[in-house]
Amino acid sequence: MTAALPPWLQRQLQALLAQRGHALLLDGAAGLGQFPLALALATAWLCEQPEQGHACGDCPSCRAVQARTHPDLCVLLPDALALELGWPLDPWTQERLERKEIKPSRQIRVEATRAALAFAQTTSARGRAKVVLIHPAERLNAESANALLKTLEEPPAAVRFVLASEAAHALLPTLRSRCQRHVLAWPGEEEGRAWLAQAAADEGLNLDEATLAACWRLAAGRVDEALAWARLGLDAAQWRQLPQRLAAGDWGGTLEWPLPRQLELLQLLCHDALAHAFGAPTRYFDASTLPAAAAPARLAALWQALQQARRSIEHPYQAALWSAAWAERVRAAFAGPALHSQSSS
Ligand SMILES: [Zn+2]
Repeated sequence: MTAALPPWLQRQLQALLAQRGHALLLDGAAGLGQFPLALALATAWLCEQPEQGHACGDCPSCRAVQARTHPDLCVLLPDALALELGWPLDPWTQERLERKEIKPSRQIRVEATRAALAFAQTTSARGRAKVVLIHPAERLNAESANALLKTLEEPPAAVRFVLASEAAHALLPTLRSRCQRHVLAWPGEEEGRAWLAQAAADEGLNLDEATLAACWRLAAGRVDEALAWARLGLDAAQWRQLPQRLAAGDWGGTLEWPLPRQLELLQLLCHDALAHAFGAPTRYFDASTLPAAAAPARLAALWQALQQARRSIEHPYQAALWSAAWAERVRAAFAGPALHSQSSS
């Protein structure tokens, strides 16, 4: 499992395996690989035949981690993410989801947190260690975070916690201060792009250099993000057309993308349109592909609305209606003269 880690995560794993301490916080922008790194650490800590501290990948413990059935590993995820990644849920949640009494949560449930903390209090089944992996830690609600805090204050022996986070500033400061913090390193461009090309090929995506470059640019160096863009299946020419199409209200196949992806794309577009309007360099798209300059005030308002939407996107909504409403908002923001403020509409 660890062999598949990209080289920059492999280097970080090496450094982290040399550290002691019972709680580690892996902190960095989304898409830098905190979850695979956390899992690689857990696998190495639990491995029964470690090779210079690294997981062997072949012992009963390593195999149990791969099968997601290790009795000494508790992976605490929001329900929705666990279902997406294929990790088992805690029995409380599993039962209620099966009976359709609850919906998959995007937060880490307090019931699941309590189950993880109870797990931490029991003795190791395979006699090496016990690991609680929490991802993303900022999705612990206040009740969960408080419960965890108490355990981190007096950690049971032989239990190690690894918290992966994409927004560590959102964690309780007291929780942060009880962990050793590791800031995720960014890949170098060359190794990052090489990894992206390989990962895309491994998934059967047949993408040319220009398309991979477009995805890399959209992700601003976050490899998981770049791969997520690549999976959408657009080619370089389609990526180039997208800003103007969206600005014209023509969403085409974009409507079928997951809503968070649509929202992310709009944010990148809005970011670059604003930068362009102020004469600053663009970051995600080629300036030549952007729609004609729109009024900065309207773009700024759109930006604010998108930020707001990002916070509420966890709530249930009607996907088609959502997209249609945003298509119109975006079109309106880019429509009309750039230098006048909107008098009426
Ligand atoms: Zn092993």
